[in-house]
Amino acid sequence: MVQFFCLIVLIAVFIPVGQGYQHYANQPHWPPPEQMNYRINPSHDPGFNEIPIITAAAQSWENSVDFDFNYLGTTGIASSGVDGTNVIYWHAGGAGGVLGYCQFWYWTPSYETFEADIWFDSMDAWWDRSGTCSGLTFDLQSVCAHEMGHALGLDHEAQENNSCPLMQSLIGPCVSRDPCQDDIDGATYFYGIAGPSPTPDPMPVTSPAGIGLTLLLLGSAMVFPLFKRKREKR
Ligand SMILES: [Zn+2]
Repeated sequence: MVQFFCLIVLIAVFIPVGQGYQHYANQPHWPPPEQMNYRINPSHDPGFNEIPIITAAAQSWENSVDFDFNYLGTTGIASSGVDGTNVIYWHAGGAGGVLGYCQFWYWTPSYETFEADIWFDSMDAWWDRSGTCSGLTFDLQSVCAHEMGHALGLDHEAQENNSCPLMQSLIGPCVSRDPCQDDIDGATYFYGIAGPSPTPDPMPVTSPAGIGLTLLLLGSAMVFPLFKRKREKR
């Protein structure tokens, strides 16, 4: 299994400015019916109800991309792994540094994604839901939308400004809740554009999971080192 860490990406993120959206190698993404059913483990209290925040982040993608994030309710699952449940949960990752993390798994050689987990760092006491720039706090909806972008198959790309693209690897205290056009282009490449009257997706293509297939792990993270704060505000 292969795992990528954001710190490596961080080094290059400011170099290829304007390069556009990035897919992972071999373009893993969800096959039809192009949806991610997920559950939330609300084990940590960030000071507000995170469930409507997370579903709003999902909606921000669904507004533009023909992909469905379906919330199925809460769960007690508190770790990442191939267990048949896409879970969004809190993880004690240590104060500072990584705010959120997405791992997803796909089959080879089809490169069809079949599971994704996302966590937010419960040890960072700076989560916010206000939707405004508020000093040293970070907007949970913005980070969630970013991590969901990874689940869709989008890698980090170069920063354009403080709010675009959503898939830049750093986030400042300001809000970036909605995918920018470049993020949308990267996702609609796989899933198409959301329409006012969505047509039913074709039936799922049966993938013979197991024999002869290799399971790969791909991870990514949103990193925010403290020393980057001023740089983000420029
Ligand atoms: Zn990221």
